[in-house]
Amino acid sequence: MKIIENKMTFAFDGKNECVAQVEDGETLIFRTHDCFDNQLDEAGSTIGNLNWDCINPATGPVYVKNAVAGDVLKVEILEITLGNQGVMCALPDNGVLGQLITEESVKRLKVENGKVHFNEQIVFDINPMIGVIGVAPENGAVNCGTPSNHGGNMDNKRITEGATLYFPIFHDGAIFSLGDVHAAMGDGEVMVSGVEIAADVKVRLSVIKGCRIETPMLENDDICGVIYSHEDIEKAVFHAVRIMNEIVQKKLGLSFNDAGMLLSAVGDLKFCQVVDPERTVMMCMPKSILNQLF
Ligand code: CA
Ligand code: ZN
Repeated sequence: MKIIENKMTFAFDGKNECVAQVEDGETLIFRTHDCFDNQLDEAGSTIGNLNWDCINPATGPVYVKNAVAGDVLKVEILEITLGNQGVMCALPDNGVLGQLITEESVKRLKVENGKVHFNEQIVFDINPMIGVIGVAPENGAVNCGTPSNHGGNMDNKRITEGATLYFPIFHDGAIFSLGDVHAAMGDGEVMVSGVEIAADVKVRLSVIKGCRIETPMLENDDICGVIYSHEDIEKAVFHAVRIMNEIVQKKLGLSFNDAGMLLSAVGDLKFCQVVDPERTVMMCMPKSILNQLF
């Protein structure tokens, strides 16, 4: 199996040179660094010494054969294998409480046997997820810290083992990469960091022909979700709900109003993250009502 490692990119860009070509339907492993490019791993390393040019590395990109602009890239998250130490930080002016943070701090957390050790008393289950994942955007370059309709830094905790993601393809080959794994993160990512950690991520990449989508979508055993990012969170909410309404109308043969009422009755709107340059939300419908996106 192909392993993509030691090849990092800091922006999603159709002009990026791909580090490997993969077949349509191929399974491969991405070996990722944490969002600080592992610079805070050593005890004593500080935010002050960070090289900010190396933040949010994504591993890749890879060129997916058979992928043409206008197609959809299907990404099955098969397995996430975590390193044994995570790192979190608090930074003045960053995150929901940024204005109240008076000094920076860095916390290193042992990750062992499926548990995150926050301190001596507080231990919780891992919830591995991928923060940064996506394809080259339609225009120009988007740094890996910013989410948009190409994916990117969506910080969606449901991007985890067993989930399948769908991305619009804007460039031949899709130009796909991923990184920024978290051992755990809550909805919202309120302090800007999850439990940031290096990881190996096994995915299967395939191309779907003949359907266009305008934003990333997600399916797992329980829900179908429409993910939308926008600098204005109300606009992100509007578009996620609008697109899910369109899908429900089409798949279930409902009117606009009935589809909307069904969303209102059984759909869940989730804040993925509210702290990145564009905010990300996901409108979810239960599989018992909407059994597939396509
Ligand atoms: Ca992130
Ligand atoms: Zn992260």
